Amino acid sequence: MTEEIYRTAVIIGAGHAAGELATSLRDNGWNGRIILIGEEPHLPYHRPPLSKTYLSGSATAESLLIKPPATYQKANVEIISDMRVLRIDRQTKKVELANGELIRYDKLVLTTGGRPRPLQVPQSVLAAQSGNFHYLRTMADVDAMRRQFEPNMRLVIVGGGYIGLEVAAVAIKAHLKVTVLEAFPRVLARVTAPELSAYYERKHREAGVEIRTGVQVSGLEMDGSGDAVSAVLCADGTRVPADLVVVGIGLIPNTELAEEAELAVDNGILVNDHAQTSDPDIYAAGDCTNHPNASLGRRLRLESVPNALEQARTAAAAICGKHKPYNVVPWFWSDQYDLKLKMVGLSQGYDQLVIRGSMDSDSFSAFYLQDGLVLAADTINRPPEFMLAKRIIAEQIRLAPEQLAAASVPLKSLLPTS
Ligand SMILES: Cc1cc2nc3c(=O)[nH]c(=O)nc-3n(C[C@H](O)[C@H](O)[C@H](O)COP(=O)(O)OP(=O)(O)OC[C@H]3O[C@@H](n4cnc5c(N)ncnc54)[C@H](O)[C@@H]3O)c2cc1C
Repeated sequence: MTEEIYRTAVIIGAGHAAGELATSLRDNGWNGRIILIGEEPHLPYHRPPLSKTYLSGSATAESLLIKPPATYQKANVEIISDMRVLRIDRQTKKVELANGELIRYDKLVLTTGGRPRPLQVPQSVLAAQSGNFHYLRTMADVDAMRRQFEPNMRLVIVGGGYIGLEVAAVAIKAHLKVTVLEAFPRVLARVTAPELSAYYERKHREAGVEIRTGVQVSGLEMDGSGDAVSAVLCADGTRVPADLVVVGIGLIPNTELAEEAELAVDNGILVNDHAQTSDPDIYAAGDCTNHPNASLGRRLRLESVPNALEQARTAAAAICGKHKPYNVVPWFWSDQYDLKLKMVGLSQGYDQLVIRGSMDSDSFSAFYLQDGLVLAADTINRPPEFMLAKRIIAEQIRLAPEQLAAASVPLKSLLPTS
């Protein structure tokens, strides 16, 4: 036996990045121990279905598992579930678990994700302890929420982002009465063009969802018993009666362990393009990181599965001494009704929007250009065009706006043969 065999890689958090990292380490030749520690009582599971098929009841808990138990067994990954890591001691290279156990590491990876941004208005702390006020990040959150998805229940959703709108789409189909309250003048304001926001608002209204934009939530009204929220109060004086409230107003990265261990943190754990933190033996991947992206020429923090997976693979390679710098064009998806939205790139700073196809047909793409260069694309029900858009953005292929708009000419025919 070589000394290598006694080396231990510890992964904190058992989500998307962790599940990928554990087996990737083995694939890259790590022959020491791999210990995965997560505070949820599950093996790593897919989070995106939580607001889609799992909420609607069409996906089971088992079907959400990213990999079956046998895969971890085969890779000899030791899994400690339902256990929070409380502290990292960088001097002794140990992590302390909630049960007091200390585990020594040679390499440590933080894949701690994030938690829902809390609504900070009067009564929100009391509401969070009540039975009908929910945030949405975990399977347990959805289990609690969907028990209350009864026809005619008045559901108020605070936040018109992807998660809020996905919940609205599921709830209206389940015959709840749904109101979405959005503080910005339009839904999806941070991530799409006004044209796309208007399109989604229309689709939701047609389905029966009431969407109120430019509405600031200012408080919550508890019922007489104090055990349940009875209404959401708005700054304009309106009172929206509620049997059930779901809040989706963003995410706070879980960086406390890193901060307490004095790793560099700034809106996420700072990592380099090898997913390495300011401590060379500690790596981080996924929603909790702030990382450089060479193709975008800046640092950013992303909340997406593709990013978590890719960073995990980068970290696994780097830990095994292989250099596979992270450099991926961000992409994401959202399912609402029968609309499959896939988006690639980041649209901030665009100066021109080109629509390809017709919004009325629910099959179109929106290209975001800056100085004639495609920065990002939103494709709706157009998977092949999404793949081409990925290539256009990654390879910075220049296409004239008229070419992009000419839906009768296949996009593929405009690209150089690769
Ligand atoms: C409802 C919903 C819908 C989504 N839809 C999409 C989508 O359509 N497309 C998409 O690309 N992305 C989507 N996302 C985002 C995507 O799920 C995340 O980007 C992804 O889960 C990030 O993976 P991660 O491994 O970084 O973090 P996570 O998957 O959040 O895993 C982190 C884990 O670490 C655990 N943890 C944290 N601190 C500790 C500690 N101290 N000790 C032990 N364990 C700890 C957490 O409990 C958690 O289980 C969605 C997210 C949600 C919540």
